[in-house]
Amino acid sequence: MLPQSETERLMEQHLNALGVEVERRVELIRFVADEDAVTAFLRRPDGSEETVDVDWMIGCDGAHSIVRHGLGMEFEGDTMLSHFILADLHLAGVPPLDEIKTYWHEAGPLVIFPIGPGRYRVVADAGEPKAGEHTPDPTLEEVQSLLDQRGPAGVKASDPVWLSGFTINERKVADYRAGRVFLTGDAAHVHSPAGGQGMNTGMQDAINLAWKLALVCRGVASPEPLLGSYSAERSEVGREVLANAGRLTTLALMRGAVAQSIRNHLARLLFGLSPVMRAVTNQMSELSIGYPSSPLTRAEGHGHSGPGAGARAPVSAAGHRVGSGDRPRFVLFAVADEGSEALIARRADLLEAETRAPFADDGIWLVRPDGYVAMTARRGEWDRVGAYLDWIAKG
Ligand SMILES: Cc1cc2nc3c(=O)[nH]c(=O)nc-3n(C[C@H](O)[C@H](O)[C@H](O)COP(=O)(O)OP(=O)(O)OC[C@H]3O[C@@H](n4cnc5c(N)ncnc54)[C@H](O)[C@@H]3O)c2cc1C
Repeated sequence: MLPQSETERLMEQHLNALGVEVERRVELIRFVADEDAVTAFLRRPDGSEETVDVDWMIGCDGAHSIVRHGLGMEFEGDTMLSHFILADLHLAGVPPLDEIKTYWHEAGPLVIFPIGPGRYRVVADAGEPKAGEHTPDPTLEEVQSLLDQRGPAGVKASDPVWLSGFTINERKVADYRAGRVFLTGDAAHVHSPAGGQGMNTGMQDAINLAWKLALVCRGVASPEPLLGSYSAERSEVGREVLANAGRLTTLALMRGAVAQSIRNHLARLLFGLSPVMRAVTNQMSELSIGYPSSPLTRAEGHGHSGPGAGARAPVSAAGHRVGSGDRPRFVLFAVADEGSEALIARRADLLEAETRAPFADDGIWLVRPDGYVAMTARRGEWDRVGAYLDWIAKG
């Protein structure tokens, strides 16, 4: 069994504190889902089998997801016609790097990511595969030869930690939900690692679904509209991530000296502009994501400044984070008055006990447990906010 990483240990501690026990090396073999429940057939490390009945199931089982296959969902998209190599190893003689560095070469780009002292990740386009050819894992010698050809002069590779060959798939399912079963992460979407967004996108899927499912499982909210909004919100994000990563990859893999020279010139011009860099940073860190078109977002005109409905609410370093604690709750950003107190008392199941300072004095912002603005209203319009929360609770 692989040793647990520090991150896994901390995550497990956190889950234990919430009353969740992690069972490692237990495999889902198959499942049956109907309108009322999901039955999961599991195999334990000792070969014994177990059947578990659950109300909901989340398939977060990666690109080859047995859950997605079990649902018979099509993984629509393409496989790119290029081999890549990935090598996590030690490099000596690399010029000081505090950020990712791409070395453009007519045979294809080579990218070096600094990981830790002396340790780097090298990713390179290894060219078009022959028909039906499997992507082999590279040897250390092959990585050294790519570094000699495309990287900075005099670099010496050693002590590989991970050598892998891969092809890029750009695929996603049309719907992240089928009744009582959900898909998150690579089970729902895979794309080029250009932009490094795979992990973030998967984690944000999980965050988006977790608070909705938690409220439903606690009996505080009706399954609809909350659970129906998961795929509507995240499938659109997945579509955008796939399109952006695909565009980046196509640019990176351009063949031909003239096209490469034009690309390199334009990239230098554009990435020298700070507004462009800011936009790219926000897009890649996924901080610019919002859900303005979500069925959960109430975007009626409010006439005041501050974040709009569906936007990510500004995060303050002071106080605890929205959504933290042992259960998810919406938060009112508003000037406290009798109306807010009455609403908080009436909907204590869904609302945090205190209001927080509004983004402008003339408005109310109802912020979801995942930090996005569910709705905005004018100061004093507590009935509208109350009606929204009643809709979440009763459907
Ligand atoms: C070469 C490469 C480089 C990448 N670089 C980056 C990067 O720089 N930045 C980034 O953000 N992303 C990167 N990614 C993508 C990133 O690794 C994935 O997006 C991310 O790991 C997906 O997480 P996940 O939890 O959805 O799936 P996975 O990480 O695949 O986890 C799925 C888990 O489910 C388990 N599982 C599978 N089937 C079953 C079963 N039947 N029963 C029980 N358990 C099961 C697996 O053992 C695994 O632990 C890269 C991917 C590749 C291939």
